[in-house]
Amino acid sequence: MFIGGLQELTLTDFPDKVACIVFLVNCNFKCKFCYNKELTSTSFFKKSKRKLIPDNDFFLFLDSKKKMLDGVVITGGEPTLSPGLVEFVKKIKQKGFLVKLDTNGSNPVVLEKLLKKNLVDYVAMDLKSPEKKHKFITQSSVPFSKIKESIFILKNSGVLHEFRTTLYPRLSIEDLKEMSELIVGERWFLQQFVGKNVLDKNSRHLRAFNNKKLEKILKELNKITKVSVRGY
Ligand code: SF4
Repeated sequence: MFIGGLQELTLTDFPDKVACIVFLVNCNFKCKFCYNKELTSTSFFKKSKRKLIPDNDFFLFLDSKKKMLDGVVITGGEPTLSPGLVEFVKKIKQKGFLVKLDTNGSNPVVLEKLLKKNLVDYVAMDLKSPEKKHKFITQSSVPFSKIKESIFILKNSGVLHEFRTTLYPRLSIEDLKEMSELIVGERWFLQQFVGKNVLDKNSRHLRAFNNKKLEKILKELNKITKVSVRGY
């Protein structure tokens, strides 16, 4: 596995659980607002001069935290692109930990595989944009149909899950309304955009929505589905 980072403790990233976060390198999106550039490709990672964490070291860490941690958050990059992911998750589960997967929804096949094998206990899927802005925002050639497929799989999985959206300032209220139609009745969390150091240089000057705009957004979206802003 390309383990690019390990956060030894989080009380906020896995709902109601004490967990660690493991960051896997590589992503098929290059979101304009991504602030984890070094995790989006092995070449960016090498340039960052950070060191990969050997699988063995990670599992030794887990063994030493059995009494302290409930679970492991697997994030990236995009974890479903890692070829050994299923075996990796199996090993974590065999050690008695719960698993939360963060995904951009681009890989419904792997997502479904993990869900069918009961290997994940919670999934957080990012919904980056409406269909018409998908290419522009994710800067990828992954078809939007894959995102819709992942939404469908998650909705029908019976596994706890949520959808998340970064409030990139180039998303309009109309865009957000369009996105909300895809996930009516689901748990949806919005998170504020932080421009500093994002992947797209031309987005670094953009300002996050102010409170007035946020309130307007929430009012409009809550007419369609239940939504909240994290940390607001
Ligand atoms: S999905 Fe987007 S935000 Fe997440 S790691 Fe990939 S490029 Fe960055």
